[in-house]
Amino acid sequence: MAIAREAFRARFFPDTTDADWHDWRWQLRHRFRNENDLCRIMQLSAQETLALRGAAGALPLAITPYYASLLDPDDATQPLRRTVVPVSLESRHSVGEQSDPLHEEGSTVRPGLVHRYPDRVLFLVTDHCSVFCRYCTRSRLVGQASDTSPSRRTWQGAIDYIADHTEVRDVLLSGGDPLTLPNSELEWLLTRLRAIPHVELIRIGTKVPLVLPQRVTPDLTTMLAKFHPLWMSIHATHPDELTEEASAALARLADAGIPLGSQTVLLSGINDSPETLRQLMHGLVRRRVKPYYLYQCDPILGSSHFRTPVKRGLELIGSLRGHTTGYAVPTYVIDAPGGGGKIPIQPETIVARDAAGLTLRGFQGTLFRYPDVTDDSTEFFQETTTPNGLP
Ligand SMILES: *Cc1c(COP(=O)(O)O)cnc(C)c1O
Repeated sequence: MAIAREAFRARFFPDTTDADWHDWRWQLRHRFRNENDLCRIMQLSAQETLALRGAAGALPLAITPYYASLLDPDDATQPLRRTVVPVSLESRHSVGEQSDPLHEEGSTVRPGLVHRYPDRVLFLVTDHCSVFCRYCTRSRLVGQASDTSPSRRTWQGAIDYIADHTEVRDVLLSGGDPLTLPNSELEWLLTRLRAIPHVELIRIGTKVPLVLPQRVTPDLTTMLAKFHPLWMSIHATHPDELTEEASAALARLADAGIPLGSQTVLLSGINDSPETLRQLMHGLVRRRVKPYYLYQCDPILGSSHFRTPVKRGLELIGSLRGHTTGYAVPTYVIDAPGGGGKIPIQPETIVARDAAGLTLRGFQGTLFRYPDVTDDSTEFFQETTTPNGLP
């Protein structure tokens, strides 16, 4: 892989200096944006060509040279390639698919601010990404506003709302990808959020460490570390993303004291095998990233070629739980269409429940009994205490 990547750079960017290649702004400026760009570096399939010629939806195309160097030039079914190069299936809409399946618009309380859960908010601080994932849950809005710079005036509206709502103790910055913002803008945002006394936790959701690891500079991590407790959720799709560069970026974040979690979307033919998923979760744990959520793919328009049956997702979780380190097992969730929030789903472990207790299924399928206590037995203890509740 590393050799293929060196060859990629030598062939397509022969005059690029190391300093440029490792500069995130250079990476952003030289992204692959259209059919002409892509056909230079790969043999496009008929389905890809059709999509690139405009048949597909509104989600733009963008791939950093770094991430492009991980793509297989000859195999359109390569997992990483499928996540970023559109195919004509994107324009095929299936039953039940929607542009905003999670009904985020309905919970939007200020422009860019979604308040669905009692104590935390989702703050969409930009619609920019360095690389656009074809299965994006927010494909309805990302990459739409052509190069308008992020607006402090819009952000201020959301910040005022958070300041006025003392129940909000957790602010999740997402988008778009917040780490595509310049340090100055991120610092402006973080300073104002940290100044709100009831905001206990700030989190950033990002894929940058894996698609633009050059962005994770010492300047960035030093700045972020001023705003602790600050956590980060890394969007990770496939073990092939865990390159030397990505590993170094994750190490810099972890060394800055940022607790790292991961979010993975379960994708058909991309990461829905026990081997791939286990490799990914092990790879993350080794890099100090705790697998947090495994998402059932949201039914956005044109997503059926990405979606895996829930039954298979349950089998995959069953292939991890008990079989490997508990820290390596994410919570499998369906983000409920219609705005119900994230609902965890698990293989059935309670087989039967009766007066004497529970029958449980262990990770190898064997049944076990647990002698449960009932509310009656709790009363028994209460009866033996004195009327004022003291022993
Ligand atoms: C996912 C999400 C959150 C954060 O949920 P956690 O389970 O706390 O990670 C908050 N708000 C919205 C709208 C979300 O979709």
